[in-house]
This record gives sequence, C-alpha cells and structure tokens, in this order.
Amino acid sequence: MALSGIQIYKLLPQTNCKECSFPTCLAFAMKLAAKQVELSACPYVSDASKQQLAESAAPPIRLITLKANGTEVKAGNEVVMFRHEKSFYNKTGLFIRVKASDPDLANKVATADAYKVNYVGMDFTIDGFAVEADGDLTAAVKTIRTATKRPLILMTKDAAQLDSSLSLLAGESALIYVAESSDYEPLADLAKKHKAALVVKEDSLDALADLTQKVQAKGVEDMVLDLGGKNMSEWLSRSTQVRKLAIKSNLRALGYPVIAFPCDAKDEGVAAAQAIAKYAGFVVLSEFKPELLYPLLVLRENIYTDPQKPIQVQPGIYEINSPKPESPVLVTTNFSITYFSVANEVEGSGLPAWLVVTDAEGMSVLTAWAAGKFDAERIAKAIKSFDVASKISKKQIVLPGHVAVLSGELEEELPGWDIRVGPREAVDLPAFMKQALN
Ligand code: SF4
Repeated sequence: MALSGIQIYKLLPQTNCKECSFPTCLAFAMKLAAKQVELSACPYVSDASKQQLAESAAPPIRLITLKANGTEVKAGNEVVMFRHEKSFYNKTGLFIRVKASDPDLANKVATADAYKVNYVGMDFTIDGFAVEADGDLTAAVKTIRTATKRPLILMTKDAAQLDSSLSLLAGESALIYVAESSDYEPLADLAKKHKAALVVKEDSLDALADLTQKVQAKGVEDMVLDLGGKNMSEWLSRSTQVRKLAIKSNLRALGYPVIAFPCDAKDEGVAAAQAIAKYAGFVVLSEFKPELLYPLLVLRENIYTDPQKPIQVQPGIYEINSPKPESPVLVTTNFSITYFSVANEVEGSGLPAWLVVTDAEGMSVLTAWAAGKFDAERIAKAIKSFDVASKISKKQIVLPGHVAVLSGELEEELPGWDIRVGPREAVDLPAFMKQALN
C-alpha cells in the first residue's frame, strides 16, 4: 500500500540538506507521496529505508527520458487520469518520421528541426525524429546528426544495424522500435548494452504485460508501449485501460508511457489529437507538415498546462507600436491569451498604444471581474504603481467593454482621468481606436 507523505518523511534522513532540490525532507516526502519525484533524487536514504520506500517511490508510470546532446524529451511520471484532478506533467513528445533511404534526408531533417512557432509568448518546436530503416540506418543516423541534435527513435528489428547506429549515438538515450514476443531477446540485449529505451508491442494487453515482464527480466527497465489497435476507437480504449491499470491498480507491468502512430489512421490530425489528449507519451507523425504541427502543439500546451496555474504574462505597462505621450492607454488582465489577443490586434493595426496589464492572477477579463480580481481598485493601483501618468499627456483610459460597469467606480478611484469604455472583443479595438478616440 502506498505510504503517506508523513510516513515517507519518517524514513528520510531528516537533515534538510536540500540536495534533492527541495527545501526540506518533508517537502521531498510530499512530492514522493504524490509520485512526482524519484527516490534517487535523495542520495542519503539508507538501504533499509529504500526497501520500505520502493513501492511508494516508483511512479505508477515510469519516467522515460530520451536524450541527445543537450536536448531531451520526457514521458511518463503521470499520476492522474484527468488533468482537472491535478495536472499532466510531461508533454507528449512529437516526433517526425523520416526514411533512411530518402536522398533528401539531411534537408528534410534540417527544415523540421528549424521549425519554431510562437504561441502567447512561448516558442514551440518538434521534439525529435523517428528513423525508418528502409535503407542503411547507420549512414542515415550519421546524416541526421549533421542536421539535428534532437533525440531519435530507431525503427528496425535488424540487430546489426541497430548495434552500429546506437554505437554512433553513444552518450545519448535513443528509443528502439519495436520488440515483440517473437523477437524481443536480441533487441532487449541491445537496449541494455546501449542504455536505450525499448518499445514493446503485442496484440492484447495481457500479452503486453507478459512481454514487459520478460524484457524486464533481461535487465531492461526503460520501456514504451505500442498498443496497436485496428482503429482510433480501439487505441483509445486500450490507452485508457493502460492508464487506469497503472494509476488506479498500480499494475507495474503496464506502468510505462505509450507511443502512438497516428499516421496509420484515416485522419492523422484527429488521431494525433486523440493521442495527445489521451495519454500518449510519444507521437510519431508521418512527415513534417507545419499546418498539422501548429494546432497539435497548441493542443498539447493546453492539455499540459496546470489547470490551477493559468499561463500569465508579467503585469506592467507594455508599449505597442512605439507609443507617444498622446497615444491611448488600454487596460486588460494578465491572462496570456487575453493579453496576446489585445496586443496582437493593436499591433496588427499599426496604431500606437500603451497597454496596462493588471495582475488578475492569470484570469481573463470577465472571469477576473466575477472573482473580484479585476476591479476599479486594482486597475487604479496598477495605473499608479506603473506610473502611467508620467508617460502620457492625456489622462484617458480605455476599459474592456465587458467591464463597463466599473467605469463609475474607476472615475472615483482616479479623479481627473477620462474613463472610456472600449469594445467587448479585442478584434474591434482598432476600429474603436480610430473612430472613438479621435
Ligand atoms: Fe532530505 Fe534527502 Fe532532500 Fe537532503 S536530499 S533534503 S536528506 S530528502
């Protein structure tokens, strides 16, 4: 049975040395109880305690880290079925499939590797490449390493090719695809020899659980599950069962991240979205398509954002299009999507403005107003603390239309200021600024 945080704390050294990156042993114990850290982060646990803690220490879904020259992708270590219960921690790794025989391999890899897209202030990229060995895998790995430093999945059952390719990747942690009951032994030996992770695949969950135990008996701990499945529905059902068995029933034999190949589905985008939302640790896309990647990256970010901590921007006064003292002052909250909606509309219009971002604990305008986090007092406080008056010549503020109700109170809080009510939607701001503020 899992131990509580206090029970775990009693088994720790209780010296609060902080080497585990937590301020106290108790804080570390609480994280261990929540299965969000590994016991190995504390180097001072006695052997006797280790034995007692082993069950509690191991996360229900093993953490798998694929590494390559400074970049890494983590999957696993998840502790809940639904993100609203707590949070999902390690974002699904998005890999692009390439072919070893492709004469344009280096160019294709370099193009995908360079892909970077900004979403509400965050840069998104792909995570790695899956190399299909339809030609000389070792030569392909050499070529790929001239174009990217991202982790690799090596897709072959050819032990000789794998051995030489993994030797080239010494010091990295690659993922081998794929071992089945009929051929797992040489692949498990190679995974152990090169400290690589191994994908295991079977047609049923019982057979899969049996296979992971056999591979583990060969000395391989880092595994990833390929659930197969004839269609999206079957895959979803298996993925949900695996997650449930690992988290709710603590079934160690299926406590590994899952890999998905949505390219096999009729609609790759829909299948990839399902895989990201429903527990895939790694997703391999058939090719580099920015129009498919961008929505998947945004979806992934939304799924893996801690629901208790909305994405926020720093409160402050932001300059858009080099504002002058006579430029208007707009007010909004520090919820990222709200901020970027407003900032992008105004920036796109070419109109200069000052944008005052108030601390509304990361909530959007209406939510923050309803929660009492975006009221006249807070707005006035922000105007004063950011010393807005010293930057402008016309004391005028534009409130979001959704909180028109605040205008009277704000006039009282900021005597001498002209309070104007702007549009409800950010998209209408440029027209409002042109027509109503001149
Ligand atoms: Fe306590 Fe170990 Fe963390 Fe030190 S490293 S604070 S002893 S749990």
